Amino acid sequence: MAPLMAAACDAQADFLVVGAGIAGLRAALELARAGHVLVLAKGHAADPSLPHAKPCLACSASDDEVVLSEHDTLQAGDGLCRPAAVHALLEEAPARIQEVIEWGAELHPSGAGLALARSTSLNRPRVLRLQESQQASLGGAIMHVLRAKAQSMPAIEIVPRTTVVELLREGPRVTGALYLTEDRVPRYRRTRAKAVLLATGGLGQLYRETTSPPSACGDGIALAFAAGAVLEDLEFVQFYPTCLHARGAPHLPLPAALLEHGAKLLNVDLERFMPRYHEAGDRAPADAIARAIVQEMRNSRSECVYLDLTAVGPDRLRKRFPALHLACVRHNLDIAADLVPVLPAAHFTVGGVAVGLNGATSVPRLYAAGEVAASGVHGANAWGANALLEGLVFGARAAKAMIAGERPSVWPTPPARTSDSPSSTGEVPTSCVALDAESLVREVRCLMWHKVGIIRRGSELAEASRCLDSLVLAETAVPSRSYYEARHILAVARLLARCAAKRAESRGAHYREDFPLRDDSLPPRHSYVSVPSPVYLAA
Ligand SMILES: Cc1cc2nc3c(=O)[nH]c(=O)nc-3n(C[C@H](O)[C@H](O)[C@H](O)COP(=O)(O)OP(=O)(O)OC[C@H]3O[C@@H](n4cnc5c(N)ncnc54)[C@H](O)[C@@H]3O)c2cc1C
Repeated sequence: MAPLMAAACDAQADFLVVGAGIAGLRAALELARAGHVLVLAKGHAADPSLPHAKPCLACSASDDEVVLSEHDTLQAGDGLCRPAAVHALLEEAPARIQEVIEWGAELHPSGAGLALARSTSLNRPRVLRLQESQQASLGGAIMHVLRAKAQSMPAIEIVPRTTVVELLREGPRVTGALYLTEDRVPRYRRTRAKAVLLATGGLGQLYRETTSPPSACGDGIALAFAAGAVLEDLEFVQFYPTCLHARGAPHLPLPAALLEHGAKLLNVDLERFMPRYHEAGDRAPADAIARAIVQEMRNSRSECVYLDLTAVGPDRLRKRFPALHLACVRHNLDIAADLVPVLPAAHFTVGGVAVGLNGATSVPRLYAAGEVAASGVHGANAWGANALLEGLVFGARAAKAMIAGERPSVWPTPPARTSDSPSSTGEVPTSCVALDAESLVREVRCLMWHKVGIIRRGSELAEASRCLDSLVLAETAVPSRSYYEARHILAVARLLARCAAKRAESRGAHYREDFPLRDDSLPPRHSYVSVPSPVYLAA
């Protein structure tokens, strides 16, 4: 296919935003003050992660609590958070939340909808949470407000059912995007803009088991890489330990609070196993639980373990977790009586496109915000519920920088080229397998789950890279969203496997069985990759 040649209809916008999730919409609202904003999004505009999102937000009403959240965020980041980014997030979050509250009455904190509650691994209340009895998600509520506000602004044009397939460039600068419509007969379109924001969400769909929405194929990461941008810390992918595993049901993340309320994990032989893995047993940190579950699944060749909720009590389950209760009933599970099948699933993309505090990438006029970006907030792992706030705060920040035309960010220079990894994802090994989009995605997701997943090993990462390099996406006469998603999934999987191989230590969300400890012999280092350099680590 030669999409650029086939593209029709050159159009012009002042600003182009790719993605209509929390980050993209928040940015669009800011950009609308300075010109015409075109927002492109795959599928229906109401598609992104948020409808699934749990109802909590790491926001706090007082300065004291901001400091506490900062501490927890830095702890989770395991030495790789950028303190300035964490400060920016926590200092600006209250104002961003207040704004959303002013735009939508149902989010008023003094109203009945919000309450402070505890969160996993916290021993003090510091999470702003929508009461479960509301049976809605705070993320969903915020999205609803942002969408309504964006739709009411004439300067913002949201075009759903469009997949951006390439960033347009003139010299080193990004000047727009090429995208494909999801019509019965798909068409290429081309729009130029003064600045482009990637707000395309994460890469959960690289994995066989994921909580992420279908749109989360790592598109923004692949597009930015192809445009020459630096990527950072791709190896850090957060896996949520206990997700519902029921036929036909999405992998709903079960609240970690269930374990605090006495729920127990059992293997397929109905034995408690967590005490064998961690002194805190079922209350161990999320990463330790995820690893233990994988180990048990491997040992017994089973596809899940079970959560026994009887100690939580049926009344508390119905009252405290009504949304979960209803979701399970919908899938023929009575959580008060049945054992609930659970497994870990890829949940949050910690690394991504390297950006400065203003969302600027290393490429002129290209910006990124939200889950696609490595803003420095999360370091090596994301704390609790910072992701929604990141979208709000850094979406707004990136928009301001786009209006001001701020310069690209600068990253550590790569070392001289070494022989340990290829310069791009395009190296073709001797024997290649050409697959159609669906088969290729199935193959990649399996490989990533088994060899680049929760428990990693150098030899398996190397094998994964070899296998990924041998896969080729078969050309198709009719372009489609799924063709491009497969292309992006393959490209990002290759990069992620290489980054994971390069990090010979266990840190944050990245666990290496062959290097089970954190390497404290050197200052904490980020991983970087860009064309034409191989993966390299730098402080
Ligand atoms: C089940 C679940 C529960 C969660 N719970 C919480 C929580 O409690 N608290 C919290 O803080 N965070 C939570 N998160 C994480 C949080 O919801 C996400 O990190 C956040 O919503 C991401 O927002 P975003 O705007 O970056 O991306 P998204 O909301 O994923 O939006 C991405 C947008 O980009 C579009 N897009 C992608 N590729 C292209 C392309 N090539 N062309 C055009 N458009 C494209 C998509 O269609 C979509 O519109 C949860 C996530 C999940 C999956």
